[in-house]
Amino acid sequence: MKAVRLYDAMDLRVDEIQEPLPPPPGFVNIDVRAAGICGSDLHNFRTGQWISRRPSTAGHEFCGRISSIGEGVEGLSVGDTVAADSRVYCGRCPACLSGRTNICEALGFVGEICDGGFAEQVQLPARLVIRHEVSLDPRVAAMAEPLAVALHAVRRLNLPPGEPVLVIGCGTIGGLSGLLLSRLHDGDLMFSDLKADRARMVAEICGGTAIDMAVPTEVAAHLNGRRLRYALDATGSIKAIGNAVDLLSGGGALALVGISHGRLELDPNILVEREIGLLGCHAYENELPEAVSLLPQLQKELLEFSDVLTSLDDVPDAYRRLVDGQTDKLKTIVRIAE
Ligand SMILES: [Zn+2]
Ligand SMILES: [Zn+2]
Repeated sequence: MKAVRLYDAMDLRVDEIQEPLPPPPGFVNIDVRAAGICGSDLHNFRTGQWISRRPSTAGHEFCGRISSIGEGVEGLSVGDTVAADSRVYCGRCPACLSGRTNICEALGFVGEICDGGFAEQVQLPARLVIRHEVSLDPRVAAMAEPLAVALHAVRRLNLPPGEPVLVIGCGTIGGLSGLLLSRLHDGDLMFSDLKADRARMVAEICGGTAIDMAVPTEVAAHLNGRRLRYALDATGSIKAIGNAVDLLSGGGALALVGISHGRLELDPNILVEREIGLLGCHAYENELPEAVSLLPQLQKELLEFSDVLTSLDDVPDAYRRLVDGQTDKLKTIVRIAE
């Protein structure tokens, strides 16, 4: 079968490899239908930072159809349409036992510590698949995982009703967070991105306003006397995070869900005096089922967010284009099978 495998930093290849063996007890085999390219896939491609085995079939955002089932698996049948959970957690450490599987002490991700979804078939532990409606478009079902990441970050903010929120960075997670906020929150939404037209596009789709957060007078003019107390950073940019802390009024929080490079210089008195919470958000806890249940009502917007490749052969070129920032869309999805 065909699989897109990462060998080293900047070395991604389309290979012909052996199909997975019949699933052992507790596992299922899946025919992959669609898979999304994630910012963390690109980060790993660019830096090789998380390569723990090589080559490894990349991809942790995907959906498919169950083709065979190992012994002892309950609640799943051959032919079920499923989305994948990206988190390979141990289930035994104190974090897992407390229900916080996203901060498992031995956490790894599909596509890194085991083969992932940029392939015609994949084998996963049955606990990492979740059924979805057959009628759901695979391009949409493949976005269950990043939607769960966004949902976790939005939940971490714990917004009081009516609060304005600033979403910083209009990539996948920023856009999906904005989309969720537009459905789950009733406050004013603002979007900022270094690319102004991207912020405008996301603001238009989610129902919000594009602003330039680097211009505090613009933010203040939009707020028109109201205070900004909550923001979500999906960039990881040290500069953006610093600017956000400066922008926030007291008594709110900043959720951090981007991957950063470098160190933040921060006067902790700002956090103390204004009681601002800095909330790290890693993957998701138990939000995947809820994210899957939200997909049908977000289908139209999710399709507007995405670009589609029709073959696994196109993935390496797409990685290079995306690393160079050559895309107007928030998510690139590869269609693999019907
Ligand atoms: Zn991802
Ligand atoms: Zn664990």
